[in-house]
Amino acid sequence: MIKHSMALKANQHGTWLVVNRGRIWLNAERSLPNGAFDDLALSAEPEQICWLGKLAGHDAYLLINHDHIADETQWVSPRELLAEGEEIFQLAARAVQVALFLQTHRFCGQCGSAMHLVHWELAMLCSKCGHRCYPRIAPCVLVGIIKDDKVLLARSNRHRPGFFSILAGFVESAETLEQAAVREVKEEVGVDICNLRYVGSQPWPFPHSLMTGFIADYAGGDIVCQPQEIEEAHWFSLDALPEVPPLETLSGQIIHQLQQIAGK
Ligand SMILES: [Zn+2]
Repeated sequence: MIKHSMALKANQHGTWLVVNRGRIWLNAERSLPNGAFDDLALSAEPEQICWLGKLAGHDAYLLINHDHIADETQWVSPRELLAEGEEIFQLAARAVQVALFLQTHRFCGQCGSAMHLVHWELAMLCSKCGHRCYPRIAPCVLVGIIKDDKVLLARSNRHRPGFFSILAGFVESAETLEQAAVREVKEEVGVDICNLRYVGSQPWPFPHSLMTGFIADYAGGDIVCQPQEIEEAHWFSLDALPEVPPLETLSGQIIHQLQQIAGK
């Protein structure tokens, strides 16, 4: 449960996640600021404050602040905190997702009235019509497809030349994760898969995805790339891979697992 503390004391101690447009402010040592609230020396009062959880025993707070533009280089994407470990990355992911939720639910989507934060749970409520909203989470499937000692990797039109990853796609309404995996693979590269095995999940705050990972066996079909999504896709030998996502990402972990399965 989230606690909301709208009036922090100047000497309040904590870890501070100051968020502005999906980015997080780091101190001069390139880490999350930790200490008294006053020492942050914000140029303007935070517009909203939320308790996010604990980090290394300290309370961690989200401060939404649109004016605190200090050195531009001190604002980073949560992606740059991936290498700092799961605990810090998850807290950063939560901070930017909660900030986005609060910014995009100021007015009711049903009647247009102003909404307010519920005091005992993380939700926005319209007091006029009763419409209640929770932070949006978009589930996404990642599928590592194996055929003998080869893996199917694709390059989407968002990736630079030479960089390949396993297939990914969003789950549609009233669809299971498994159905989404089979459909996305068929749509994006035209092949059929079978024997889906769940690997794990990872929050992915760009802007509010939850990645779920699977390994699957190739079941048939030739590669035919979906023109709007996939630039190229190939079967790569697991001991001669191109540039792929790092191990901090679920995609990277799935590719690593496929190498182990193939004994590479
Ligand atoms: Zn309403």
